[in-house]
Amino acid sequence: MNLIFLGPPGAGKGTIAIMIKDRFSIPHISTGDIFRAAIKNETPLGKQVKSILTSGDLVPDEITIKLVEERLACDDIVNGYILDGFPRTIPQAKALGNFTHIDYVINFVINRESIIKRLSGRRIAKDSGKIYHLVNNPPKREGFCDETGEPLIQRDDDKEEAVINRLDVYEKQTAPLIDYYSTMGLLQDIDAAPSPKVVADSLIPLLKL
Ligand code: AMP
Repeated sequence: MNLIFLGPPGAGKGTIAIMIKDRFSIPHISTGDIFRAAIKNETPLGKQVKSILTSGDLVPDEITIKLVEERLACDDIVNGYILDGFPRTIPQAKALGNFTHIDYVINFVINRESIIKRLSGRRIAKDSGKIYHLVNNPPKREGFCDETGEPLIQRDDDKEEAVINRLDVYEKQTAPLIDYYSTMGLLQDIDAAPSPKVVADSLIPLLKL
């Protein structure tokens, strides 16, 4: 099953992808995670995109499209995949349509105020990839990952100025994909405001091939 998770930053796309991927034996492919890993490892790609991610702007389409095309050529997508954070522009969506087919586009619906609350409290563990929230999903020991014990950090792009820019970028460049995929008959809206478990439970019955 080939899925796209569409929605503004902070809608919970990554959290829900991690919760359901094993059920369908499909990998969670997050372009944001791929860029962050490249930055952490100081690869040429990482150096190229570091300042773009910090500001909350989008990485140029040609770089992102090539990266996803290469990722979707890997063997582990035999049962499908969850694309989280891609496509984010109409040219990306058109390019994707040329090298794969999509079964569902899940549109995570949530208002701007809730997003700002969520992102400002979000903390991540870089090594384990686990995502916490100071209020909604705190770790057992404050400031440290339950799984690895590593210190939790705030993403640079979760700081207020970058969050506001990311939401503006989403409205201008990514929200038009809602109409694009709706016209193609692929879009399924999901209320992303409740807790992750409620969102995941409401999503699973929608995913039938
Ligand atoms: P995310 O973790 O999905 O919020 O992505 C973090 C950042 O990575 C974004 O703010 C962009 O700078 C970059 N990024 C991720 N996915 C894309 C994409 N599909 N197109 C362009 N830039 C992207």
